[in-house]
Amino acid sequence: MKIVMLGAPGAGKGTQAEKLAAKYGLPHISTGDIFRKNIKEGTELGKEAKSYMDAGKLVPDELTVRILLDRVSNEDCKNGYILDGFPRTIPQAEALDKELNRLGGKIDFAVDVDVPDENIINRMSGRRACPKCGATYHIQYVPPKKDGICDECGAELVIRDDDRPETVKNRLAVYHEQTQPLVEYYKKKEVYRAVDGTLDVEAVFDSIKDILE
Ligand code: ADP
Ligand code: AMP
Repeated sequence: MKIVMLGAPGAGKGTQAEKLAAKYGLPHISTGDIFRKNIKEGTELGKEAKSYMDAGKLVPDELTVRILLDRVSNEDCKNGYILDGFPRTIPQAEALDKELNRLGGKIDFAVDVDVPDENIINRMSGRRACPKCGATYHIQYVPPKKDGICDECGAELVIRDDDRPETVKNRLAVYHEQTQPLVEYYKKKEVYRAVDGTLDVEAVFDSIKDILE
């Protein structure tokens, strides 16, 4: 099963993708996580991606597509995968479909975690991330057991650089302009399904499971 998670930044794509990956035994592939890992390791890719990410802009398609197609060609992806944060533009979606066509596959579901902009600001300002293992929390809705400490690995949680209020506004504008057109793209392919992302984490997860099963 190949699933694309759609939705605004901070809608809860990563939170749901992680749960789906565990339930269905599929890899959770987040282009944002791949970029952040490269930034942490100081690679050339990380250096290039950082300037775009810090400004709330998208990393160029050519680079992003190359990284993603390379990742999904790995052995662990042969039974499917959950894409979180990719595609974010029509050219990215087309590049993925072209490759899938070539291999005789297709995207089975594009699940849109639908959350209005008003809630997004709140979601992103309360988000805390683990710089070591990538786990995500929310100070109000998904708090760690111990304040500021990752449940999974014990590292100190941080605010992502691109979750600062100035950047969040840019990211939302970029989402509406460049990513939202994917709703029509996947509707045309008859794989688009929307869920109410304002519900709590378990309720959103239940709606997605209903769709997939
Ligand atoms: P995305 O991957 O779409 O950017 P995340 O999964 O990182 O979004 O979620 C953004 C923030 O909102 C995180 O702090 C997360 O813990 C929190 N969150 C995710 N889903 C929900 C939900 N259903 N209700 C409340 N908070 C949520
Ligand atoms: P995310 O973790 O999905 O919120 O992504 C964080 C940032 O990484 C985005 O704001 C972009 O700058 C960059 N990014 C992640 N995925 C993509 C993508 N598919 N296309 C372009 N930029 C991306």
